[in-house]
Amino acid sequence: MSDSTYDVIIIGGGPAGMTAGLYASRAMLKSLMLEKMIMGGQMMTTTKVENWPGYPGGIEGPELMMKFQEHCVEFGLETGYGTVEKIIDNGASKTLIVDGKELTCKAVIVTTGVVPRKLGLEGEEALVGRGVSYCATCDGAFFRDVPIAVIGGGDTAAEEALFLTRFASKVILVHRRDQLRATKILQERILKHEKIEIAWNSVVDRLLSDNTGLTGAVLRDTQSGETREVELAGMFVAVGVTPTTGFVADLVELTEDGYIQAGEDTHTSAPGIFAAGDCRTTVLKQVSTAVGDGAVAAIMAEKYIEELQHSDN
Ligand code: NAP
Repeated sequence: MSDSTYDVIIIGGGPAGMTAGLYASRAMLKSLMLEKMIMGGQMMTTTKVENWPGYPGGIEGPELMMKFQEHCVEFGLETGYGTVEKIIDNGASKTLIVDGKELTCKAVIVTTGVVPRKLGLEGEEALVGRGVSYCATCDGAFFRDVPIAVIGGGDTAAEEALFLTRFASKVILVHRRDQLRATKILQERILKHEKIEIAWNSVVDRLLSDNTGLTGAVLRDTQSGETREVELAGMFVAVGVTPTTGFVADLVELTEDGYIQAGEDTHTSAPGIFAAGDCRTTVLKQVSTAVGDGAVAAIMAEKYIEELQHSDN
């Protein structure tokens, strides 16, 4: 980070953040994009992206994000790593506490996205890295020729189950209802895949393990209440997401489930703080919608800064 004062600081380095960065730096605003861990966000743990226009046949998530990053730094966007612990809103200026250091800016764009939700089962946390995972692209290759389960019925669960068939001997998709939430094209692929077995109307009651790690799970039929044990070497949890918004909870209005309340114009309840991408109350969570959101947020931040300058004169 070159010095500590910026026009705009973007928090989060996923598709929304990168696009906000591209638009803000192209608008000649002194802009910094801060990322906590890995530039690219959730896309870095996504396999093939089939619904990003311009890439017939699809493109790997990390490859697409490398291109995004290359593109946004071309316009002078500064990028850096750090965890934003707190934002102090002094009106026309905002102070960010990042790993104990202070950065100031006129406008903040929050694009911190979401993190995978946990099942909350006893032993789940202790078995992470020893059979339990929240990311098939990260850990899938460790499960060759062994039975595994994927929990959930949404797009993530469906994509992960399909991806994991490359390695596992069998994939049991455990879904609590009798119908998948995932898009039709993924449902079709799941239903006809010979390695995927669906445990309909089922939830995981209990994890089974020994000193080497996960060995299985007890599944419960949500209708009959009957339980059965399945042998598993791995379990991939894909039961939805939680927004990463705790650090702004005292500054901007959040929904009950933690999403930042902001409309299509990305304005939050705090002037000069904008929210874009999956952490906002969006109707669709896709790369394409995150990109549009990031662009809007940057233009809104530019207008906000212009108005600040006019009110100063
Ligand atoms: P999601 O759409 O919220 O689906 C979560 C799934 O987990 C649902 O099937 C839900 O069951 C189930 N579930 C929730 N809590 C559970 C629990 N405690 N026990 C068992 N099952 C539970 O989450 P997601 O799949 O992570 O997707 C998040 C967003 O990203 C969505 O908007 C999705 O469309 C998007 N996405 C898009 C793509 C793509 O376009 N290629 C890929 C990945 C994600 P119910 O169905 O019964 O509620």
